[in-house]
Amino acid sequence: MHYLDNSATTAVLPEAVEVMTKLMLTDFGNPSSQHSMGIKAAKELKNYREIVAKAMGANADEITFTSGGTEAINTAIFGAAHKNRHIGKHIITTEFEHSAVKNACKRLEEEGFAVTYLKPDETGHISAEDFENALRQDTVLVSIMLVNNEVGTLQPVEKIGAILKAKAPRAIFHIDAVQGFFRTALTPRKWNCQLMSVSGHKIGAPKGIGALYISRDIKIRPYIVGGGQEKGMRSGTEPMPSIAGFAVACEIRQKNMADDLKHVSELAEYLKSQLEKRIPWAKQNGQPDVPHVLNVSLEGCKSEVMLRILESREVYVSAGSACAKGKESAVLKAMGFDNKRIDSAIRISFAPFNTKEDIDALLDGFEQGIKMLKR
Ligand code: PLP
Repeated sequence: MHYLDNSATTAVLPEAVEVMTKLMLTDFGNPSSQHSMGIKAAKELKNYREIVAKAMGANADEITFTSGGTEAINTAIFGAAHKNRHIGKHIITTEFEHSAVKNACKRLEEEGFAVTYLKPDETGHISAEDFENALRQDTVLVSIMLVNNEVGTLQPVEKIGAILKAKAPRAIFHIDAVQGFFRTALTPRKWNCQLMSVSGHKIGAPKGIGALYISRDIKIRPYIVGGGQEKGMRSGTEPMPSIAGFAVACEIRQKNMADDLKHVSELAEYLKSQLEKRIPWAKQNGQPDVPHVLNVSLEGCKSEVMLRILESREVYVSAGSACAKGKESAVLKAMGFDNKRIDSAIRISFAPFNTKEDIDALLDGFEQGIKMLKR
């Protein structure tokens, strides 16, 4: 198997599975229980929170565990917009956000908020200048992704944070860092952001766990109420096995981050050089800043068909983001590409376990597909 779709999701690390199994079969206490098993679980929860906080560049008391990126984003966007609605009702985001952000903003539009969607350029970046021009007196919330999920570009979050601090200090800044987690260091304080979302299943933790950073400087309203867990921000018995798996994945990724980055950079360079040699007419979409994602169009070869051909050779990539489910890529459209380019786009995304053999298998598959499709 050659799995090159790691931005959609990736394998759970064996060390995470091990700790999760222990927490499901042996140490399965509820952290709210008053007996020794509960006390042990509460202590472990504290430890896991500290590990995840460190990985996010935050303090432990600034971390709320959620069911994943989508829940963190929804909590952030609705929480911030509703908290600030008395100050104003203008939101700034981008045209190529993940649907969790876009659909939350659409919902707020129905509630009477006005949303400005910044357009990225052809390289896959939004400009800080456009952002500054979009800022209004009544801007109360800004939500920008750190790394784009389809083209791997870093957005100018530090510049945006600085502009906000100078010009609209009351506006809340949320960063969707799901695709940036362990692709680049997270520094929410340096970016002057108050809210930041991450997800476990993109880094070797199981699906269904994520975290929201809420800076000590702000308070937002929780949407899941009940027993008051997570300091009231997200009620419900804590999913200890998933939290433990998440923390262990963070620890391993943190320890190996420099080596992983070097390895993935080498893979990306190898892929680019082989593409140039073997399929020189392939067009790269955007200019990625992290090596984990490469998006290419093989014009004349429909991506859905190419995907099936690759799949028959046990090579797994995607046509856009997994969440787009085969619909045309809104990211490439926002970047201004024509249909020919969008219809033939393939996203290749790496994890540390990938090898050059995976890339060779991909290119062999591409060549077979091109022979079949470009007659
Ligand atoms: N934000 C981005 C940029 C993503 O790529 C994803 C997942 O693909 C999400 C948010 C949603 O995360 P989750 O799948 O954990 O809900």
